[in-house]
Amino acid sequence: MIRFLALSILVFLIFLIVRSTLNAFVAGLRGASRPVPGRRAGTDELVKDPVCETYIPRRKAISRGSGSATRYFCSAACADRYAARS
Ligand SMILES: [Zn+2]
Repeated sequence: MIRFLALSILVFLIFLIVRSTLNAFVAGLRGASRPVPGRRAGTDELVKDPVCETYIPRRKAISRGSGSATRYFCSAACADRYAARS
């Protein structure tokens, strides 16, 4: 009976060690794969609205055209004004 009790405690201790090791491992994985906020390439770059000359983050801007001819605008009104002008 005492041997059974000792074995139970041993198994419990091993369980605790394995669990804490797993927790540390998972936390390490999460920490390593966490994206750095606000520094994703390209998306937070500031672009200039050619109509009202406001700088806006590219991911919030309205884009017209493609490739090197792409223009970014703060609003649809500016985009329309640019299209009417050119
Ligand atoms: Zn604008």
